[in-house]
Amino acid sequence: MEKYLAELNDAQRAPVLQVEGPLMVIAGAGSGKTRVLTYRIAYIMSKGVDAFNILALTFTNKAAREMKGRIASIVGNSEAKNLWMGTFHSVFAKILRFEADKLGYPSNFTIYDTQDSQRLINAIIKEKGLDKDVYKYKQIQSRISSFKNSLITVRAYFNNPELIEADAMAKRPRMGDIYQEYCDRCFKAGAMDFDDLLLKTNELLTRFPEVLQKYQNRFRYILVDEYQDTNHSQYLIVRALSDKFQNICVVGDDAQSIYAFRGANINNIMNYQKDYDNVQVYRLEQNYRSTKNIVEAANSVIEKNKTRLDKVVWTANDDGGKIKVHRSLTDAEEGRFVASNIFETEMNLQLGHGNFAVLYRTNSQSRAIEDALRKRDIPYRIYGGLSFYQRKEIKDILSYLRLVLNPKDEEALVRIINFPARGIGQTTVDKLTVVANHYKRSIFEVMENLDRIDLKINSGTRRKLDDFVTMIKSFQIMNENSDAFTLSEHVAKKSGILQLFKKDGTPEGIARMENVEELLNGIKDFVEGQQEVADATGALSEFLEDIALATDLDKDTGDDDRVAMMTIHLAKGLEFPYVYIVGMEEDLFPSAMSMNTRSELEEERRLFYVALTRAEKQAYLTFAESRYRWGKLVDSEPSRFIEEIEDKYVEHLTPPMRSGYRYKPMLDADIFGEVDKSKFRQNKPVAGTPPSHHNPSEEKLRKLRKLKPDIANPVGNNDTNIADELGVGTKVEHTRFGRGEVLKLEGVGNDRKAEIRFQNGEVKKLLLRFAKLDVL
Ligand code: ATP
Ligand code: MG
Repeated sequence: MEKYLAELNDAQRAPVLQVEGPLMVIAGAGSGKTRVLTYRIAYIMSKGVDAFNILALTFTNKAAREMKGRIASIVGNSEAKNLWMGTFHSVFAKILRFEADKLGYPSNFTIYDTQDSQRLINAIIKEKGLDKDVYKYKQIQSRISSFKNSLITVRAYFNNPELIEADAMAKRPRMGDIYQEYCDRCFKAGAMDFDDLLLKTNELLTRFPEVLQKYQNRFRYILVDEYQDTNHSQYLIVRALSDKFQNICVVGDDAQSIYAFRGANINNIMNYQKDYDNVQVYRLEQNYRSTKNIVEAANSVIEKNKTRLDKVVWTANDDGGKIKVHRSLTDAEEGRFVASNIFETEMNLQLGHGNFAVLYRTNSQSRAIEDALRKRDIPYRIYGGLSFYQRKEIKDILSYLRLVLNPKDEEALVRIINFPARGIGQTTVDKLTVVANHYKRSIFEVMENLDRIDLKINSGTRRKLDDFVTMIKSFQIMNENSDAFTLSEHVAKKSGILQLFKKDGTPEGIARMENVEELLNGIKDFVEGQQEVADATGALSEFLEDIALATDLDKDTGDDDRVAMMTIHLAKGLEFPYVYIVGMEEDLFPSAMSMNTRSELEEERRLFYVALTRAEKQAYLTFAESRYRWGKLVDSEPSRFIEEIEDKYVEHLTPPMRSGYRYKPMLDADIFGEVDKSKFRQNKPVAGTPPSHHNPSEEKLRKLRKLKPDIANPVGNNDTNIADELGVGTKVEHTRFGRGEVLKLEGVGNDRKAEIRFQNGEVKKLLLRFAKLDVL
């Protein structure tokens, strides 16, 4: 047996050795599904199959790169290079470039990101004079996205009375018009949005049988990771491409299907056996990732879901520590707990920052954690959120480059036609847009033909428009003879963007300039990388495509030792030794928006299962009793998911229930990460108090209660009369300044103040009414 095959257990080896026919590996988290996929590709190649004939679809491009690296180490680099591997979007964007003309698109079509799509939808709503409070552009965008992922074209929409009626009921009768206009405008601009990359691939494969055949013959072996999260559009592509040879291997875990809200269809995995003949189903049961406690705790949670395939997951790994649960008063304290706990663990076990991950339900939760990590000087990296390429200054430069490649790109054009300011006002742009829409031409074409169009634009403005067109054309000429870096540098200077930031001189302006430099460095690296591999032609378009499709995870260079912070959705497939799942609160996780139906709640539970199973050695769950949400301090209760873990796998670092617990030692726990339990003894929890969320009427009350910010000053001293406890020499602890000693007291009542020397030597005078102080 080849050496690498020995790195698999028997159950894993079986699907690796089955080269032909349809198969499915269905197994729980950490059981080696991704490993099976990787080794299977190596094995197929070792049987003489050309890499060129293998297509592997992964959840991130980073995962694809890592797989490729592993395969290269088994079969050799030159062999592995020709593998088609990547996300659905990146693989099919490449195919669409080859075949674009068949669909009436230029091969250099632009890929609109979500920002571009939303801006365009917003513009359409405005142009049509619709009420933006009824037609909310984000909602409209997500509805259009779901149409596309279900392959509902504009025509299909207008032929479907149910959809039309649903939108009428939602008081958005013009939905179809917006959808139509949006598609027309994208087409006219030579642009595809993310969903188009799948929709148009489907169109290509159905309308052009010869194209379908070409790719069926090419991709004789198809493999799909995370199959449980494919949407209908992706499902149909895989189905069509694999139809001829039926050498299709999908791996997945129904318990980790977490993208239903974006159209993923768990039935794709449930129905797989019906879709192909003689499907071999393999199951893996041994988890190699996590400790016994983590595996069994996760099992005890997911068992609560009704819709699931029965699976066994066990591990031979050590028991490990129990799942540690921590409660704090506020989200800020939660952050401090996480930061100090990471700090301590790093110190005690001599670990690098890269061993830790903080996972949350929504991006907005990251701020409190960030603040705390920064105070402790712990480096971190946030994945997701606004990516580097979406920053304004970066998008501005990229828009120039996009326009060079595709002058029809309307979103790029309107972004920069007057940036830096060159005296082309919004009214002029509006006039151009009207004419362009009327003639079904791009704005750029209108600008090229100004003298042939009767437009009320004065000669001064005309000259400015001419200058702009000439500038873009000069960039285009340069693009024919220069590499992407030389061109980009030239564009940054000639457009005036660099000068603008330089002149600005504010820290913000300097930061922007540095970001532009960073972008140029990135382009330089890219160009140099390209020149090593092959010819450098088309480098600019490839660079733009790369970044349009890069997910944030893809930019991970792997060499920076930082705490990883991301949403649970993004963490799928990843693993970290220490994982903190923060914000374990009702209405946050499970999300308030996902508790209406059983299936929504089950998806939240799967999300929790995903989160918990990312941890290798230790998992922490933290929650806060109150937290800032939408600018308000709201009261919160521990997530039901904490209780759903069987007791024996859980250790409470703080007493689990809130009733009657407004005690002081809380702060010790929050700052030092461990608790002197003796301090809790006098405050035993009321045994047997049923958790309120099991009772619907209670739940309603709780929601109502949440509407008013009832804890105005959660860690302040309104309720405890701290002033009475202080004297000269009292040792105190301040939430922000740390430990200190009282030097002097003055004033009475609401004006009572204390002068305190803190451990860093600073002396501060604090108004006790507000000071976040605790007596030690
Ligand atoms: P997820 O459901 O989270 O995507 P998965 O089923 O894809 O998980 P992998 O990521 O492939 O699981 O494997 C989990 C971990 O276990 C990885 O670190 C992998 O290297 C390791 N592993 C898997 N199989 C073995 C094995 N036979 N021997 C040693 N380690 C293994
Ligand atoms: Mg995996």
